[in-house]
Amino acid sequence: MTLCEIAIGSNLGNRAGHIRFAFRELNRLPRTKLLKRSQVRPSAPMGKHAGPEYLNAAGILQTTLSAIGLLVELKRLEALRGRIPNGHWRPRVLDLDILTFGKQRINKRILQVPHNSALSRTFVSHALADL
Ligand code: ADP
Ligand code: MG
Repeated sequence: MTLCEIAIGSNLGNRAGHIRFAFRELNRLPRTKLLKRSQVRPSAPMGKHAGPEYLNAAGILQTTLSAIGLLVELKRLEALRGRIPNGHWRPRVLDLDILTFGKQRINKRILQVPHNSALSRTFVSHALADL
């Protein structure tokens, strides 16, 4: 069993609805329970494709999935909500990132954990401080 921190973000469409969906579905993943959820806060977009303002949140999961197994489930939830893969930074209906996965360190092309670039963002530290 592993405890992991997940970042949730949305900057397109019904942002609050997408974040509610994410919390609900994270708790319904196989072999997984959502233990804690942060508040939902606005944050300014970053990067040259920035677009509209984000809503961000974070949660703590307890899971017996592997890290890659969890990543696959997160990508499935993003797609269910209608996200079309369009690259880093671009506006998205739902972004689910694995911030930490227990004490594991993973450095593959498809999965880097801990997610240091996300962990260094102010909105992520604010959300994690709620947990
Ligand atoms: P962003 O970096 O802005 O979150 P995407 O959500 O489009 O961009 O993610 C691009 C790719 O990043 C994903 O397809 C995934 O394979 C990879 N990735 C690497 N590390 C992680 C992680 N810790 N959590 C989620 N995705 C990750
Ligand atoms: Mg992402």
